[in-house]
Amino acid sequence: MRVLGIETTCDETAASVVHCDDEGRGTIMSNAVLSQIAEHAAYGGVVPEIAARAHLDMLDLVVARAMVDAQCDFTKLDGVAVAAGPGLIGGVIVGLTTAKAIAMVSERPLLAVNHLEAHALTARLTDAVEFPYCLLLASGGHTQILAVLGVGEYVRLGTTLDDAMGEAFDKVGKLLGLPYPGGPNVEQQALRGNPYRFTFPRPMLGRTNPDFSLSGLKTAVRTEAESAAPLSDDDVADVCAGFQAAIVDVVGDRVSVGLSRFRERFGEPTALVIAGGVAANKAIRATLERRAADAGLKLIAPPGYLCTDNGAMIAWAGIERLRLGLVDDLGTSPRARWPLQELSA
Ligand code: ATP
Ligand code: MG
Ligand code: FE
Repeated sequence: MRVLGIETTCDETAASVVHCDDEGRGTIMSNAVLSQIAEHAAYGGVVPEIAARAHLDMLDLVVARAMVDAQCDFTKLDGVAVAAGPGLIGGVIVGLTTAKAIAMVSERPLLAVNHLEAHALTARLTDAVEFPYCLLLASGGHTQILAVLGVGEYVRLGTTLDDAMGEAFDKVGKLLGLPYPGGPNVEQQALRGNPYRFTFPRPMLGRTNPDFSLSGLKTAVRTEAESAAPLSDDDVADVCAGFQAAIVDVVGDRVSVGLSRFRERFGEPTALVIAGGVAANKAIRATLERRAADAGLKLIAPPGYLCTDNGAMIAWAGIERLRLGLVDDLGTSPRARWPLQELSA
């Protein structure tokens, strides 16, 4: 089967066609992603109204690009998947309305996908991972350790008590004057910085619940950066390296605890999986590779371009749902908030 996936929940306008064979193996036939980074850069973060208008301006073109690249037309689709939330409501409305129009005109089923479920299932597209697996979902808006038991079956083992991990990266990048978004730029700076010059706190280390707390770390970085101001380029690199080293220690510890909690409740996972934009970070991937190996597990980390927002993950989640006969009606509403726990298979 073949499904078009549309993603407009944040600042990427994205569309993709994914094919799935009879054995359940997915192939990405096209993957068009238009980032709005330039539109938001001047504001140091995503401006919802600008995002919604940019999605409206560009989505038709991005969908057309995805269809042409896949050498596909709407009549060859088996379904139209779209992220119906959670996210910035203006963008979600643009994506959902477009998807409904395509579904209605081409008489194909609508698949209203939860954006977080799409992140969570991406590793089944790239690596055919079997359920149940332990997932670290670390993105701009979420940081959770989840037991993924099946499509629509997610148990949250741990979460952040304050900032999301991507948010912490972005805020640190912003306070250091790095371009938006902070995550990839902080990682880049950290590569040439000295991680031992500044020692930042490692919040929650050793706690028995696999929760995160990242706002204190961010504040410590701010305090240090302010007292060392004006910062030279080398200072900035050292702060980034120190911050990333703290995050790496925290993530490793929290995920190891998460794996223990998973085993107590659900038995042996098939793998440790990471998803969400922060999963593109190479230092985090490397530490989780070791933690997984220590636990006798493989780390499954989709390529970076499938960790940040994209249409292929939406199309794939749509395929997973369509294969189970889970389709949505054209009256489906967009949702700004939509916790994974509210899904059902
Ligand atoms: P959510 O998925 O929670 O709705 P989102 O869709 O905005 O949020 P993603 O697109 O999944 O989030 O991820 C974007 C986040 O990932 C940003 O905060 C960005 O800074 C961060 N990020 C991207 N690449 C890296 C990297 N290499 N290192 C650290 N963080 C990164
Ligand atoms: Mg984004
Ligand atoms: Fe996302």
